[in-house]
Amino acid sequence: MVLLTAWQIWTNRQNTLSDIETGTLNLANALNTYTEGAFKQSEVVLLGLTDRIEKDGIGPEQLERLGVLVAQEMDALAQLNSVVLYDARGDWIFSTNKPTALHSNNADRDFFKHHRDNPDRGVFIGPAILSRATGAWVISVSRRIDHPDGSFAGVIAATLSLEHFLKLYRTIQVGQFGAISLTSSEGRLLVRYPFQEQDIGRDLSPAPIFSEYLRKMSSGTVDFASKVDGIHRIYAFTRSNQYPLVTTVAVGQDEAMQAWWSQAKQSVAVVIVLLGLLVALGRRLIAHISHRIRAETALRTTQTTLIELNHTLEILAREDKLTGLANRRHFDQSLDSEFKRAKRLRRPLSLILIDVDFFKRYNDHYGHLAGDECLRIISQSIKQCVRRPGDMTARYGGEEIAVVMPNTDESGARSVAEAIILGIAHAQLEHLSSPFGTVTASLGLVTFTAYDSKHDEKALIDQADRALYLAKSQGRNRLSVAAAEVQGESA
Ligand code: GH3
Ligand code: MG
Ligand code: MG
Repeated sequence: MVLLTAWQIWTNRQNTLSDIETGTLNLANALNTYTEGAFKQSEVVLLGLTDRIEKDGIGPEQLERLGVLVAQEMDALAQLNSVVLYDARGDWIFSTNKPTALHSNNADRDFFKHHRDNPDRGVFIGPAILSRATGAWVISVSRRIDHPDGSFAGVIAATLSLEHFLKLYRTIQVGQFGAISLTSSEGRLLVRYPFQEQDIGRDLSPAPIFSEYLRKMSSGTVDFASKVDGIHRIYAFTRSNQYPLVTTVAVGQDEAMQAWWSQAKQSVAVVIVLLGLLVALGRRLIAHISHRIRAETALRTTQTTLIELNHTLEILAREDKLTGLANRRHFDQSLDSEFKRAKRLRRPLSLILIDVDFFKRYNDHYGHLAGDECLRIISQSIKQCVRRPGDMTARYGGEEIAVVMPNTDESGARSVAEAIILGIAHAQLEHLSSPFGTVTASLGLVTFTAYDSKHDEKALIDQADRALYLAKSQGRNRLSVAAAEVQGESA
C-alpha cells in the first residue's frame, strides 16, 4: 500500500510537472505570437511612411499630411507610443509628440547609428529606453530612409510602450514567484513582469537559457534554481523567427506544484490513517489470539485438573476410606458383572464372606480407634492372600469383608480362605476378651458353578452368609463351605 501510494504520488508529480511545462510553453508561444503581431503592425506602419516620405519628400505640406496619416495609424494601434522622423543628422523633423522636445537631436541613439552606418532596409529593434518625447518606457522600432540615390536620408522610428505589453502580462497568473519577460535575442531585457525599472536593459546573456538552451533550440522548457533568489523555477522560452526577440515565461516550481503537493499530503495522510487502522486491527487480532491461546491453555489445565479430580473421585467412590479396600458399592457392581460373566462363560465364581469374631468386645475392651486399626491390619492381611488380578477384596460392612474370585473353583477358594485364617492368626493381634486370646475371624465360602444357572448373585450372598453363620455357630475362627450345598440344591 505504501509503495503503491508513493508510486502514485511520484507519477502524479511527473504528470503535474509535465502539464505545467506544457502550459507554460504554450503561454510563451502565445505571447510570442502576440509580440510578433505588435511589432509586425508597427513595421507595416513604418514601411508605409517610408514609402510616402521617399516618394513625396519632406516639405511642410507633405509633413502636415504625414501628421494626419500617422495620427490615424496611432489611433488604430494601441501599442504605438510615438512616431518620429529624423533627418540624416539625427535632428527631429517630425514627431507625434510635439512640440516639447522638437528639434532635439537623437544621433546618439543606437538605432540611429545602426541605420546611418547600415544600408539594410530592414527594421531595427532597439533596447528599451526612456522616451525623451513622452517620458515613458519604450522600445524603438526603426527603419532607414534613403535619398533617391540610395544615400542616407534619415530614420523613421516608432516607439512601442512597455506598458502595452505589461498590461497584457498583468492579466496572466504566474504566481508570486513567476515572471514574464521579453528579451532581445542576445539576452538584453526589454520588459519584465513584475515590472522593476532597474531590470530594464539587464544583460541576461550569461543565464543558461541564452548561454546554453537557445543555442540548441528555439523553444523549450528548462528548470533550475535562480542564482539571484535561489528559487526553483520552470522556464518556458520561445525565440521569434521574425524578430530578434525572446519571450520567456517562468513559474515557481513549488508554487506551481502546490495543488499536487496538497494532494500528495492528503494521500499520505490517508495512507497513515489506514496504516494506523491496520496496525490497531493487527494488534487487536494478536491480542485476541493470545487471549484465546491463554484461555485455551487455562481450559486445558482445568480439564486436566478435572480429569485428575474425576479419577480421584472415581477412586474415592470405589474405595473404603478406613481399610483402603473396595467399598460396598464397588463390590455390588463387581459381583453383578462377574456373576453375569461367569454364567455366560460357564466359569466358576467363588465368594468368601469374612466376619471378625467378637469384635464388639474388642471395641469395648480396646476402644473404637484400636478397633479401626485392627480392621486395617486384618484388611491388609486378607489382601495379601488374594493376589490374582481379577480378584476383589471389599469391605462388605462393619467388620465384615468379602472376597470375590472369578474363575476360581471351590478348592481354589478354599485354599485362599484357609490362607486368610492363617494370615490373621499370624498377625497375633491381642484380643483378651475373646476365648482365643487373639483376633480371629469366621469365613463362609460359596462357589457358583455353571450348574447353578437358576441362581442370581443375591442367592450367592445368602449362601455365603449362611455358611458364615454356620462357622459362627460351630465355634468361630473357622471356614464353612456352602458350595456343596449350592450344587446339591441345583443338582
Ligand atoms: P460375632 O463374633 O458374633 O461376630 O460378634 P461381634 O461382636 O463381632 O458381632 P456384632 O455384630 O455383635 O458386633 C459387630 C461390631 O463391630 C459392632 C461394631 O461396634 C463393630 N464395628 C463395626 N464397624 C466398625 C468399625 O468401622 N470400626 C470399629 N472400631 N468397630 C466396628
Ligand atoms: Mg458382623
Ligand atoms: Mg463379628
